[in-house]
Amino acid sequence: MAQYDYDLFTIGAGSGGVRGSRVAAAFGAKVAVAEESALGGTCVNVGCIPKKLLVYASHYLDDFRDAAGFGWTVGPQSINWAKLIANKDNEIHRLNGVYRKLLDDAGVEIIEGRAQVLDPHTIGVNGKRYTAKYILIAVGSWPSIPTFPGSEHVITSNEAFYLPELPSKVIVVGGGYIGVEFAGIFHGLGAETAQLYRGELFLRGFDNDIRLTLADEMLKRGIDLRFKTDIAKIEKHGDILNATLIDGSVINANQILYATGRVPKTRDLGLENAGVELRQSGAVVVDPYLRSSVESIYAIGDCTDRLMLTPVAIAEGTAVANTLFNNRPIMLDYENVATAIFSAPNCGTVGLTEEQAHRREFEVDIYMSSFRPLRHTMTGSAEKTMMKLVVDRASDRVLGCHMVGPDAGEIIQGLAVAVNCGATKTQFDTTIGIHPTAAEEFVTMRTKTR
Ligand code: FAD
Ligand code: NDP
Repeated sequence: MAQYDYDLFTIGAGSGGVRGSRVAAAFGAKVAVAEESALGGTCVNVGCIPKKLLVYASHYLDDFRDAAGFGWTVGPQSINWAKLIANKDNEIHRLNGVYRKLLDDAGVEIIEGRAQVLDPHTIGVNGKRYTAKYILIAVGSWPSIPTFPGSEHVITSNEAFYLPELPSKVIVVGGGYIGVEFAGIFHGLGAETAQLYRGELFLRGFDNDIRLTLADEMLKRGIDLRFKTDIAKIEKHGDILNATLIDGSVINANQILYATGRVPKTRDLGLENAGVELRQSGAVVVDPYLRSSVESIYAIGDCTDRLMLTPVAIAEGTAVANTLFNNRPIMLDYENVATAIFSAPNCGTVGLTEEQAHRREFEVDIYMSSFRPLRHTMTGSAEKTMMKLVVDRASDRVLGCHMVGPDAGEIIQGLAVAVNCGATKTQFDTTIGIHPTAAEEFVTMRTKTR
């Protein structure tokens, strides 16, 4: 008789947990996954997918406006929020079913309920105990908001996807991915939108030219973007929320969305019972093979609080499955992970920022271009696209590519392959462009900006 009920017990059927479980099962492991909420986790239910669907919805106002320059007459427009949310929900339910089928087809047992770790090889769900040779912690993260007078009135991205109606006035607090994406969504859908950030310039950690360009573009669009400010208190009067800022001024809105970061969802998970080391944030400490301080327990994705991105969680799930059940230990390389912000307009980036390159003591040449895309020669829009290459002068290697403009994520995804292959500026230059595209600018920038 087997020593354990399962070879692998995964806690959390989100991006990382589902992939890790499926791949492990494909290698012949007996696998169970516990999920306390909806299959697919944050990305499918309250993250990437519904967010991108709302981003698509928010682009139409631009398109209607731009159409006039191309000769179109577009009638009166209005957004039916209830229909948008219902259609989005239908798609999410379809995806929940796809995830169930993927797990079923892979032979992974789904256990519904909240799991807790009882010891290094035992998990409890709904009062039942299960044993496993290995436990995979893939519990994701949860929005974190500060506590202050009136903070009970704010919403997070979780609620933003299910609002009963589209607010006519919105304040978004936080200058990270979620803040800029939702400011773009609400503004694009027609809400009067303010975004507040506590520091000098939002998107800390991104290339400065991305940060400056996006700030300019958002201001041009009419988003009330305010830096070096914060909310001190909120008072609710009927449907109106009055937010008093730290300088004493008051602004109001129907909804205030806090996008002030996410924390690992490891509270009350029982990891302490097993002796798993956690950081102060609750993040599981892992080694390069994603093993925690306990030999039989691995952790992947957001709960390790490193790069909170779906493709990273997926790559980590695949890596653990290979390490444990395919005799092929995988140590992931986190350099050059490409990422996009689905703001209005989009940002895309891969590799080093100019500031990082300087900190690492590279002597760099910067190639940068800011231009009006062809489409806008007919629309009258003042929107600009920015593209930038950070090049190591000594080796000629392209260390980083950064962009603000339509489809930045789509364009940077392709360049990420080149950057990961160590492509040089000369190789970029000898690549013949596709004309007329915006992306060709990346292979035609010849003049050093600095
Ligand atoms: P999750 O996908 O969160 O899965 C964790 C699962 O564990 C959840 O289903 C949860 O219910 C379950 N769980 C937790 N505790 C327990 C327990 N005790 N017992 C049983 N089940 C449990 N990333 C991108 O790459 N691109 C994007 O465009 C993007 N957009 C985003 C937009 C928003 C609004 C948000 C919030 C995030 C976005 N992300 C995006 C980040 C991405 O969603 C996460 O990085 C990714 O989902 C992490 O995967 P995970 O497997 O670590 O966790
Ligand atoms: P981020 O960590 O990206 O940004 C948090 C923002 O909130 C920062 O501007 C931070 O400021 C600010 N902040 C933090 N604490 C406070 C506070 N107490 N008061 C006021 N402001 C505060 O978190 P998000 O919530 O935006 O997103 C979480 C993660 O989800 C992202 O980091 C990303 O990994 C992932 N994600 C990815 C997306 C994508 O790939 N397109 C989209 C959405 C989310 P400061 O910079 O000064 O610390």
